[in-house]
Amino acid sequence: MTEPNRYRPATLAVHGGQVRSQHGETAEALFLTSGFVYDDAAQAEATFLGTAQHYQYSRFGNPTVAMFEERLAALEGAEACRATATGMAAVSAAMLAHLKAGDRVVASRALFGSCHWIVSTLLPKFGIETEFVDGRDLAAWQRALARPANAVLLESPSNPCLEVVDLRAVCDLAHKAGATVMVDNVFATPLLQRPLEFGADVVIYSATKHIDGQGRCLGGAILSSKAWIENTLQPFIRNTGPSLSPFNAWVLLKGLETLKLRIDAMCQGAAAVADFLAAQPGVTRVLYPSRKDHPQHALAMAQMSQGGTVVAFEVEGGKPAAFAVLDALRLIRVSNNLGDSKSLVTHPATTTHMRIGAEERAKLGISDGLVRLSVGLEDPADLTEDLGRALMAAKVARAAE
Ligand SMILES: *Cc1c(COP(=O)(O)O)cnc(C)c1O
Repeated sequence: MTEPNRYRPATLAVHGGQVRSQHGETAEALFLTSGFVYDDAAQAEATFLGTAQHYQYSRFGNPTVAMFEERLAALEGAEACRATATGMAAVSAAMLAHLKAGDRVVASRALFGSCHWIVSTLLPKFGIETEFVDGRDLAAWQRALARPANAVLLESPSNPCLEVVDLRAVCDLAHKAGATVMVDNVFATPLLQRPLEFGADVVIYSATKHIDGQGRCLGGAILSSKAWIENTLQPFIRNTGPSLSPFNAWVLLKGLETLKLRIDAMCQGAAAVADFLAAQPGVTRVLYPSRKDHPQHALAMAQMSQGGTVVAFEVEGGKPAAFAVLDALRLIRVSNNLGDSKSLVTHPATTTHMRIGAEERAKLGISDGLVRLSVGLEDPADLTEDLGRALMAAKVARAAE
């Protein structure tokens, strides 16, 4: 395409970044190759000198992966993108490429489990000072960023309690402290929230979640300015090798084509399920950003166009009650994954957030009765029937004890 920025997101998701081979194929070509050949030795030399444009090796770049990177960059409104093998490869590459010993990182506490580990455990091993703050508390950000910092890492809305960070305010504070702001935008997707427009410098995805969205493959992506991607990130990726496989890039390209359809349907389903849950006896709390009773509803809706695909709710009776509900579900299956076309349910306290410990869970509001539900593409009426039946079964089981 010649002028991709003139197209709307649904169109960019279908056409963005496509480069056709000499065969004029309709679908994106899958270049399942590790290396590339040169016309002659001089072309190889020129490629290594950087005076000729030619693919060298799929660890550094691959035509199918490049189409995925271009398409996602167009959707995000970012200058450049690098794809990685997983979401965690994206988070770790972005942090490790950007930071060095003696640097300082401030992060919101409500991070995906492995992101929390990178900040709490990995970075300090290399002499990087790290500090967690309550992402909802602007005064806490202000205190932490009163001293110079090199990076801020945050997730909004967060997993699993859907806490929201004020992106513009935190970006302003971070920039005054000298920090580069990295946003893990997995829960919102590029269609619901565009962090770069609020001042973020780097946006990170686990493409495993909504971008594939059909439970098939792992992937990740990092988006930022051309200068940061080329000068800071690319040497790290080139030499350490967290690269995305061309096959997975091809799957993810096809995932992007249906992203808007899927996200719109999943958000509608999630909103319906959240409303249903809020009316059920035995459900003490429902967290969903587009519901008026979400503690940060106004901020969430100022930053996001819809509430997202994940609903968190708390059942009365702690872990036994939560387990009883999970075990009584028939259509909705127990899994720690999310963003899939199949609805999936998780008990965070005993799975995704088990390792952070009870004290940290308490700070994050992850009680033993909390359940995270990733809403898929089923008819929402079948989901609410399944949930209603499971809540009833759990109540009967507890009454009989
Ligand atoms: C899943 C997830 C990740 C990690 O992605 P992988 O593809 O599993 O490595 C990071 N952040 C968030 C918010 C996630 O949900």
